[in-house]
Amino acid sequence: MRIFSGIQPTGRKHLGNHIGAIRGYLDGQERGDPALYCIVDLHAITVAYDPARLRTYVYDTLAMLIASGLDPGRSILFRQSDVHEHTELCWLLSGVTAHGDLNRMTQFKEKASGQRELVSAGLFLYPVLQAADVLAYRAHEVPVGDDQRQHVEFMRDIAARFNATHGDVLVVPEHRIPDVGARIMNLQAPQSKMSTTGSEERGLIFVDDEEKAIVKKVKGAVTDSGSEVRKAPDKPGISNLIDILAVIRDLAPGDIEREFEGQGYGAFKGAVAEAVVGYLRPVRERYRELRPDEDALEQVLAAGADRARVLASETVADVRRVMGVGPPA
Ligand code: ATP
Ligand code: MG
Repeated sequence: MRIFSGIQPTGRKHLGNHIGAIRGYLDGQERGDPALYCIVDLHAITVAYDPARLRTYVYDTLAMLIASGLDPGRSILFRQSDVHEHTELCWLLSGVTAHGDLNRMTQFKEKASGQRELVSAGLFLYPVLQAADVLAYRAHEVPVGDDQRQHVEFMRDIAARFNATHGDVLVVPEHRIPDVGARIMNLQAPQSKMSTTGSEERGLIFVDDEEKAIVKKVKGAVTDSGSEVRKAPDKPGISNLIDILAVIRDLAPGDIEREFEGQGYGAFKGAVAEAVVGYLRPVRERYRELRPDEDALEQVLAAGADRARVLASETVADVRRVMGVGPPA
């Protein structure tokens, strides 16, 4: 069972990333042979960004992953741009990718509308590079949040089309999306997902937020004017907080609804704030210890890339061979 997932070094990562994806990475670490987690810096350059900060964001993200429990001795943790096979495979796969399929990608439409200066071709091709990330490792499983469902579906189509055209070389991967917490919403705008780029910061809980900030954000979360702690389509703010508490307490949302029956939003928000603080505290503390030692972090990335490259280069060699690219084997 090979497991692969990627996370962008686009800035401080948030509770949505942690609950929706990183918990899945930890589970994958137990089952993967191997589990690979990639910090996808080449994805981060598809929207406006600051080159001077990209490298430090990679360290931030890596330190956060390790602080969350990923162990570089067990999982392969690496930086995407260190393994050139990803970009080569992206180009090779573009030959079996339908332009029309890319045109339908929701993430592209949403992110394109948020760009002021330039909608880059890279943003359009993002799902092809993401397909290459996963397919390069012949991964069986991809732990992601709900927003990536469409992209995993897309890479499955590419893999299947490639195999049908050129022979059975690629593994068609499956997503692994959690039942609860796969889409944590922005606390100030609960109709949009919590997102590293392009969302209102007050509505984000960062993994390394101070405890006081977490409490303030949870207590200030936008809710409806009612008083019932109950999941409902017209109660996106409360529904979101119920999901957060359910995941942290490892309960079903229905259990949370029952527990807070007859209690107001104030008591409920207090309980959510306390739970989130307790959930993130050990991660933040460990993060602060790890983050300053950039040499050590760079060594983790280099060792991870060496291990990843061995696997990716085998796949790319097979792809080149069946596509007739390069000299005969
Ligand atoms: P961006 O908005 O710039 O794409 P992001 O917050 O989505 O940033 P990514 O690095 O793209 O962060 O995503 C990393 C992982 O976190 C992905 O598996 C994604 O599905 C998951 N994820 C992102 N946002 C949420 C969310 N609000 N709830 C649950 N999972 C999420
Ligand atoms: Mg994203």
